[in-house]
Amino acid sequence: MVAIYPGSFDPITLGHLDIITRSSKLYDKVVVVVSRNPTKNPLFTVDERMAQIRKTTQHLENVEVDSFNGLTVNYAKKLRAKVLLRGLRVLSDFEKELQMAHTNKTLSDEIETVFLATSTEYGFLSSSLVKEIAKFGGPIDHLVPEHIALDVERCYGQNLV
Ligand code: ADP
Repeated sequence: MVAIYPGSFDPITLGHLDIITRSSKLYDKVVVVVSRNPTKNPLFTVDERMAQIRKTTQHLENVEVDSFNGLTVNYAKKLRAKVLLRGLRVLSDFEKELQMAHTNKTLSDEIETVFLATSTEYGFLSSSLVKEIAKFGGPIDHLVPEHIALDVERCYGQNLV
């Protein structure tokens, strides 16, 4: 069975990687899909994020990386994926995610949203938090893979005035 894991991944964190690793043991194929829908000022381009995810997941044989534009359910249908994966961290995630899952169900009855609970050590972790710390010169190498930490630090290093 194919599962898609859509998101912004700006950038991929150890929390995302944990969800990808665990789901790769549950499904035949997991496709991590970067949303091309315009978001709030991304730090990395979609192509950069895809390259970062590919490098981060290169050891996982059944994980692929792609991007999509438009409705997630349409992308899932195109791929014949029946499962849409999302991660849950805190209660505030739940409200938003449940609304999205219900909305997607009205758009396609065939696709099931499956939630994986965050591992306890990553419950606080988000891409925004990583960028917030890096912006002020704090350490992020315990939150993202080493090559991502270098990418993020390079961005803020160059942007510092
Ligand atoms: P989006 O903008 O679609 O929320 P994100 O890249 O922020 O994109 O998140 C993609 C998915 O990964 C979401 O389902 C989010 O809840 C989940 N996620 C993000 N960080 C973590 C984490 N630390 N642990 C578990 N799930 C996470």
